[in-house]
Order: sequence, then structure tokens, then C-alpha cells
Amino acid sequence: MKNQYKVLVALVLAHLLVLGAWAQPVQNKPSNCDINKDGESPVNLKGDFCNNKYELKFDLGRGATKMECEIHKYDKEDEQKYVNVTVGFKNPNTSITVKANNTVYSFLQFHFHNASEHAIGGNKDSMEVHFVFKNLEKGKEKDKLVCGILIKADGRDNTFFEPVLNALKQTLAGNHPELEINLSDLGGKMGLDKYMNTYYNYNGSLTSPPFSTDVNWFVSANKLTISKRQLEDFKKLIYKYENGKRYRIGIDRKIHELDGRPIRKK
Ligand SMILES: [Zn+2]
Repeated sequence: MKNQYKVLVALVLAHLLVLGAWAQPVQNKPSNCDINKDGESPVNLKGDFCNNKYELKFDLGRGATKMECEIHKYDKEDEQKYVNVTVGFKNPNTSITVKANNTVYSFLQFHFHNASEHAIGGNKDSMEVHFVFKNLEKGKEKDKLVCGILIKADGRDNTFFEPVLNALKQTLAGNHPELEINLSDLGGKMGLDKYMNTYYNYNGSLTSPPFSTDVNWFVSANKLTISKRQLEDFKKLIYKYENGKRYRIGIDRKIHELDGRPIRKK
């Protein structure tokens, strides 16, 4: 009886060991997680991800601010030839900051791309918005931090995007409208802090000249939505002339290889 009892205990233990082994998550941490290497953007965000190493803390300020609207010329076929790649708003505003661990970055401008520049798991979306921040303490960390949010055109009209579109249309008509932005909308309607609660992070570059590889990139895993009509309206703003003819073009730089750079995921 005693031996049979021992066998039974051994069998139960063996089962528990096997079950325990199954219950353990497979550690699939990539081998390049500690590599600190620079490279170009955008990239395809896929594969095995490394652990997040940053805590982002946004301070979006209070009240409203006026922003200037700009539309830049763009030549997709010859990257070096174009003046700039984006439509955007410039108004250096030090009251808006983001802190990545201990480094403070100050808000410079935001702008849009069509189609999205980054791909997630190989899939691009209709558009992408970039919030560009600059490092206030030179020599520490990267010079810039950019937050990117991919935009799907399968929702209702986005109430933040609508006045932006109107200001861009006026700019194209030769006017210089100032756009009043409610700072809380950058967080609420544009998702700047809210949508950045889950993201992909990697070392990358500016996606327009001078393409400098000094950017700490954070691409949200959440997506904003606009309506199909708003997407079509935006596309009408982006074109180039060739031999007297007007062509509609995209403003998204081609995907670049990671070439060993790790992607961290929160
Ligand atoms: Zn951009």
C-alpha cells in the first residue's frame, strides 16, 4: 500500500510539473533588445517586441493657442528635390511638453501624411498625424521625439480635423488663416496623451528633409478615425504640377528596413 501511495504521489507531481511547464509563457524576447542603433523612418512595426523602457508624461497646457498653417511642396519621385513633405501647423509652444523618463521635449508642430507612413503588421492606414517635439536639454537623449497616430477613414466626421481642413483649404487659396486650437482637444479629440497609452517605440529619423536620425519615435497602437469625405477633401489638397498637368499624390515616405534596430512595445 505504501509503495502504491508513493507511485501515486509521484504521478501527481509529474503531472503538475508538466502542467506547470505548459502554463509558463514562452519567453520570446528578441536578442537585439539592448542594441542602440540609429536608422531611418518610417518602418513596418512587426515581429517580436522588446519591453518598453519609457514613461511618457504629457503636459498639454491650458486654454487655446493660435497656430499658423503651411502647405509645402513635395516631389515623391526625387526625395532630395522636395522642399518639404507635409502640411502642418507651426507654432513653437513651450507650454506643451512631453517628458520621456527624465528628458523634457517641447512641442513644435503637428502635421498629416496620406497614406500613413508607418505600417503595423504590414498594414498601412489612410493617414497618419505626427506631433513633433524638440529636446530642451541638448546632448541628452535624442534631439526630437515624435508621436505618430495612424488614422482610419471609416468613421464619422472628426470635429477637430474639420477646422484643420478648412484652414488648409484657405491656405491653398492664398490666404493665411490662423487656426485657434483648444489645447485640451490635442489630448481629447486628437488623442495625443490618451491614445499614447499603448505604443511602439524605436530609434528613427525625420521622414522629410533633412531626414536626420535623431528621433525617438512613439507610434500609437490605437487609431484615430475620420470620415471618408474628410479623407477625400484632404487628398484634394495634395497635388503637384507636371508638364502643365495637375496630379494628385500621396505624402508618405517609403518604408525603411529596421536593420537590427529593436522595437519596444507598451
Ligand atoms: Zn511626419
